[in-house]
Amino acid sequence: MADKQLDDLFLDTLKDIYYAERQILKALPKMAKAASSPELRAGFEQHHTETEGQVERLERVFEILGKTPRGKTCDAILGILDEGKSIMEEFKDSPALDAGLAAAAQAVEHYEIARYGTLRAWAMQLGHKEAADLFGQTLAEEEATDKKLSQLATSVVNKKAA
Ligand code: FE
Ligand code: FE
Ligand code: FE
Repeated sequence: MADKQLDDLFLDTLKDIYYAERQILKALPKMAKAASSPELRAGFEQHHTETEGQVERLERVFEILGKTPRGKTCDAILGILDEGKSIMEEFKDSPALDAGLAAAAQAVEHYEIARYGTLRAWAMQLGHKEAADLFGQTLAEEEATDKKLSQLATSVVNKKAA
């Protein structure tokens, strides 16, 4: 009975991150376009390509579970992306724009890191070894992106903003 409940929670959370990733896929080109630093823009473009692969991994997990890929509205990601949009508008011509964009992107990565960490743990708990492995691969990409954003922020973006 306990495992059945975790099963449902697992599927709901999978749908949550599937919805979130597809929203992120739409947002990243806009963030790349808005960025003024070429390094930050390239970072967003690279992560957009990675995100396409992450969506495919999620579709593979749905397949493993014998379910049709379906998203479930994630209010958290909508809120985080909305904040990013506000920064793009309010700091449009400011030297602090890139600092704001990098910070907004890190908020996205942190949400994803939380979700993929949980999903990997639950997949292991439920005996879905391949799914756990796929979540682990994506988790590593999200963590690397977060680190890269931190480095970019310290090396170029925040200096310009100051
Ligand atoms: Fe992602
Ligand atoms: Fe969510
Ligand atoms: Fe990401």
